[in-house]
Amino acid sequence: MNSINSTNSVRVRFAPSPTGFLHIGGLRTALFNYLFARHNNGKFILRIEDTDRTRYVEGATENLISILNWCGLDYDEGPFLDNDGKICQKGDFGPYIQSQRIEIYKRFAEELLKKGAAYRCFCTPQRLEELRKTQLLNKQPPMYDRFCRNISQKESDERAKSEPYTIRLKIPDEEIVFNDIIRGEVKFDGKLIDDQILLKSDGYPTYHLANVVDDHLMQITHVIRGEEWLSSTPKHVLLYRYFEWELPKFAHLPLLLNPDRSKLSKRSGDVSVEDFKKEGYLPEALINYVALLGWSTEDSQQFFTKQELIEKFSLDRCSESSAIFDRQKMLWMNAEYVRKTSSDKLYVYALPFLEAAGFKINEDNKSYIIKLIEAEKERIKLLKDVPYLIEYFLKPDDEIIYDEKATKKYLSTKQHKKILEEIYELLIKISNFDKVTLENEIRNFCQQKGYKTTEVFHPLRVAVSGRSEGIGLFDLLELLGKQKVINRIQNVLKKFNFSE
Ligand code: GLU
Repeated sequence: MNSINSTNSVRVRFAPSPTGFLHIGGLRTALFNYLFARHNNGKFILRIEDTDRTRYVEGATENLISILNWCGLDYDEGPFLDNDGKICQKGDFGPYIQSQRIEIYKRFAEELLKKGAAYRCFCTPQRLEELRKTQLLNKQPPMYDRFCRNISQKESDERAKSEPYTIRLKIPDEEIVFNDIIRGEVKFDGKLIDDQILLKSDGYPTYHLANVVDDHLMQITHVIRGEEWLSSTPKHVLLYRYFEWELPKFAHLPLLLNPDRSKLSKRSGDVSVEDFKKEGYLPEALINYVALLGWSTEDSQQFFTKQELIEKFSLDRCSESSAIFDRQKMLWMNAEYVRKTSSDKLYVYALPFLEAAGFKINEDNKSYIIKLIEAEKERIKLLKDVPYLIEYFLKPDDEIIYDEKATKKYLSTKQHKKILEEIYELLIKISNFDKVTLENEIRNFCQQKGYKTTEVFHPLRVAVSGRSEGIGLFDLLELLGKQKVINRIQNVLKKFNFSE
C-alpha cells in the first residue's frame, strides 16, 4: 500500500462504528478531520469500524454515508454509495470496512504473539465474571489479573490446539507518555491499564487492534477524535511501539456538554444529525455551528462559509476545555442562515417538507411558492415551519382553518360584520390589486368611515387568513390575490355567526 501516500501529505480519517445514527459529536469529529485535510491539501478518509458485531445496526453505514453527503463532507477514500444507495468502492483504495479485513488483523495479532508483546488468555467468561465481582466487592477497579500472562510458550501453543482463547496486549508497569496536539504531554500509568484484549475468541479484533493496524496501513498522519478515546491512546501507543511503526500525531477534541454541563449523549434527547435534518436545519448552518464546538478564531468570528472554515481551521485553535452544545444558539444560527439563503434555494430545501405535508408542487405553482417563502422568510426558523407558514395561501378557500381565539375576537360581532361587508364592497371595485393601491384605498376607507385602522385591519386579516398574525396585511392581500380575498370574505360573511 506504499503508493497510498507517496507525497507524504496529511492523511486523516473519520472512523465511525455503524451503531445507529450519526451523533452530533461524530459530526464534529468528521468535520474537524475534513477541515484539517482540506486546509492542508491532504486526504480525508472514511473507515467503517464494524468489528463489534453485537453493536452492528443494519443500514447504519448507508445512513452514515448519506448524512455525510448531505452535510457536504466529501471524502477521498472509503466506502461510497452507488445510485441505488448500495455501498461501493470508487478509485483505487477502499472501501475500508473492517469486517471485510478480519484476516489482516489476525495476522498482526499473531505477529505480536511471536514478538512476545501479547499473550493468549484462556480464562473462561465465568472466571472473568467472578474476578470482576470480587474486585467490585473489594472496591478495586475491575481489571484483568494477568492470570495467563506467565503461561509458558510451549503450554500456550499446546492449549491453543483445543481451548478457545483471546489474545491480550502486555501492558508494561511503566508510565506511558505521548504528545497530544491539543493537550500537550499526556501520561498514563501502565499499572492501571488493563491487558487489553486485541483478538476475541471468535477471531474478531477489538477496536484497539483494528484501529491501530488500519491507521498504520492507511498511512494516517493525524488521529483526530473525541476526548473519550484519550484513555485508549496509551494502548495504541504501545501497539505502535511493539510493531515498530511510526506514531501518528494525536489530537483529542474536547467533550461536548449540555448547557447544564451534563454529558451530551445519545440518550439526552435528539442529538442525531438525522433528527436535525428532519427538523429542517440547513446543512450550512449545522456545519457552521458544529465548527464552533471546540474551535474558534482569535477574533471569535461566528459566521463562516465552508471555504472560510477550510482556510481558517487549525488544530492549534482547538480548545482543551469542554464545549457546550447549545440548541438555542444553533436554532438562532439556523434562522440567520435561512434569512441569508435565496428563496430559490430555500424552496429546494423546503420541498420534502412541503410534500410530506401533502402539498402538490408542480411547475405551475413553483414561482408562487418561492414568492411565499420570500414573504415568510423572517418567520422561518426551521424548514419544518414552512408548510404551516404558507399553507393558508395554498389551501382551497373553504378549507382555511380559522383560529378560534382570533375568530372570537375579530369575527364575532355585528360591527365586525358591518365592516367586512363594507370592505368587501371596496375591494371588489379595486382592479389593481397591488399592495400600494390596497394600502391607499384601505387607509382612505378607514378615514372616510371614521374607523380606527385596527378595527378594519384585524377582521380583514383573520377573514382572509384565519390567523391574527403573519406577514404585513397588504403583502398578504396582494399575495393572495383578489379572487381569494373576495371568496374568503364572502365565505366568512355567509358562514360565521356574528351575533354578539
Ligand atoms: N470506531 C471509533 C468510534 O466509533 C473510532 C475512534 C477513533 O477515531 O479512533 O468513534
